[in-house]
Amino acid sequence: MKDATEATRAANRAAIAQVPLADRQSFEDARRGFIEALGDKLITRPDGRLVWTLQGYEFLESELAPDSVHPGLWRHARVNMANGLYRVTDRVYQLRGFDVSNMTIIEGDTGLIVIDPLISTEVAKAAMELYLKHRPLKPVVAVIYSHSHVDHFGGVRGIVSADDVAAGKVTIWAPAGFIAAAVGENVIAGNAMLRRALFQFGAMLPRGERGQVDTGLGKSVSLGTVTLIPPTNLIEKSAETHRIDGVEIVFELTPDAEAPAELIMYYPDFRVLNMTEITTQNFHNLLPMRGALVRDSLSWSKYIGGALHRYGATSEILIAQHNWPVWSGDRVRGFLRKQRDAYKFVHDQTVRLMNCGYVGAEIAEMVMLPASLNDEWSAHSFYGNLKHNIRAIYQRYLGHYDGNPANLDALPPVEAAKKSVEYMGGADAVLKKAREDFARAEYRWVAQVASQLVFADPANRDARGLAADAFEQLGYQSESATARNAYLQGAFELRNGVPNLPAGSGAAPDIIRSLPLDMYFDFMAVRLNGDKAAGKTMVLNWRFTDSNQNYVLNLENSALTFVEDMQADDADATLTLTRSTLDEISLRKTTFAAALQSGQIAIAGKKEKLEELLEMLDDFPIRFPVVEPRPAGV
Ligand SMILES: [Zn+2]
Repeated sequence: MKDATEATRAANRAAIAQVPLADRQSFEDARRGFIEALGDKLITRPDGRLVWTLQGYEFLESELAPDSVHPGLWRHARVNMANGLYRVTDRVYQLRGFDVSNMTIIEGDTGLIVIDPLISTEVAKAAMELYLKHRPLKPVVAVIYSHSHVDHFGGVRGIVSADDVAAGKVTIWAPAGFIAAAVGENVIAGNAMLRRALFQFGAMLPRGERGQVDTGLGKSVSLGTVTLIPPTNLIEKSAETHRIDGVEIVFELTPDAEAPAELIMYYPDFRVLNMTEITTQNFHNLLPMRGALVRDSLSWSKYIGGALHRYGATSEILIAQHNWPVWSGDRVRGFLRKQRDAYKFVHDQTVRLMNCGYVGAEIAEMVMLPASLNDEWSAHSFYGNLKHNIRAIYQRYLGHYDGNPANLDALPPVEAAKKSVEYMGGADAVLKKAREDFARAEYRWVAQVASQLVFADPANRDARGLAADAFEQLGYQSESATARNAYLQGAFELRNGVPNLPAGSGAAPDIIRSLPLDMYFDFMAVRLNGDKAAGKTMVLNWRFTDSNQNYVLNLENSALTFVEDMQADDADATLTLTRSTLDEISLRKTTFAAALQSGQIAIAGKKEKLEELLEMLDDFPIRFPVVEPRPAGV
């Protein structure tokens, strides 16, 4: 990791004038109600592996931003350091800084209502222990999952047992569509997302002034045991009021904005509005860099506007499941107005320019927040990235294609790079010019052109070094934590190659067991290697005796399709098994072959057909290259 260049130093100094540094309200808001910090404790798995710590962030104690961090991001990363147990108001507490997300606890008449038990059991348990150190011991009687992202449910078994849920001692509440969204969002494209998430969160980057400083929503992501207990109570209507352990909760569904299944809550007894993740202390992501379906900024803005009209007048405190609260009714209303308008402004201006004929790359240069929004820290893109979000809106409406047929069938990266470099006079000539542009601080162009050199010849060490240097300076200048992480991870990989991924990053057992069978077969179908399947046909009946489900799978034209509740009379083979056997195979506790051997799977008809199918399925590589071409022959 190199120093900030003189140009980066100047850019970050100039940025001081563009951000409202004098507004220090967030520091006060984040500290209010503080009881005890998590501090520099280590939270580990039973086998000692590290799950979470704030150690390594001590460098953020300095008030003044270093040259290698954007001053807005520096301030945000510092406020996000507020951690520990906080009293929001009577009977409402929050645990912050135990993960990327917050855990909220409401004290009911007889027990505790927990909202969002973080990503992993180890941190959820540690958060609960800190709470119980200061508050009377009461059982958890209800858990609410605010939405379908793993940082809002994964730690559930750290605070309640599935047996207590089954026995009716604990109810679990979630928005309609929760399970399909929670287990499904990361299945079909899950492998690609997992690899790309390294760039978004920078979880493997060293922490420091020239490394990872924040994620925007919190410091980082915990790396412990992910669990899921399915909800017992779903919120199905757009708004529903329930009394849970004596506490009145108004639930309002906000689907297809920040997550496919999500809700916000108003607690009238406490005059607290919980915006969950519909508002956080930044402009969120319309398209996370890990990749996702593009989110709808228009609905997003409308949900915030609706919350303002319905609960704004009576709310005294606004909390969320990330970052820190907003205190006092006036400021809650002001905050909601700015958040509502930030999503609306960016949406509308992007669409306006789109309709004027500009393409995403142009609009991203044109749309700047108006001063009234730019003066508001929470409208700044610490988790999202404004330019990336603008392109996402374009993509949502018009797709990645900009309409110019020159780009309709452009050459793929390696071929295009080789041709470009050749036309530009060869690698040495390009490198010479690119170095001059680097000296002139034209980092965006140097990143582009040096990346072409790398794709033309990944062994060109000078080109790799120059591309990495340009990425690094761009990262240092980014106000968005996720853009910074992406650039710095890119620089790291150009210098050191693709890192080894942490062990145990496969899907958690609870998630696999909750996966609807439809999704299982959808995922099996995307593993089908079309070339291997060429010319092959088969029909397989599947009977699941424990879940009473039947499927018929059809392979022809290199496409694997299925129909539920059907069995074919002329199937090549019929498999009879239990869903739990299938789950054990998915969890790699057994294999199809071993299950056939042991009789856990019975097969009638042509037994060899199953084996034939399995041989056509790909296993996805977890360490695929991103910032350089894949090695020949892979
Ligand atoms: Zn979240």
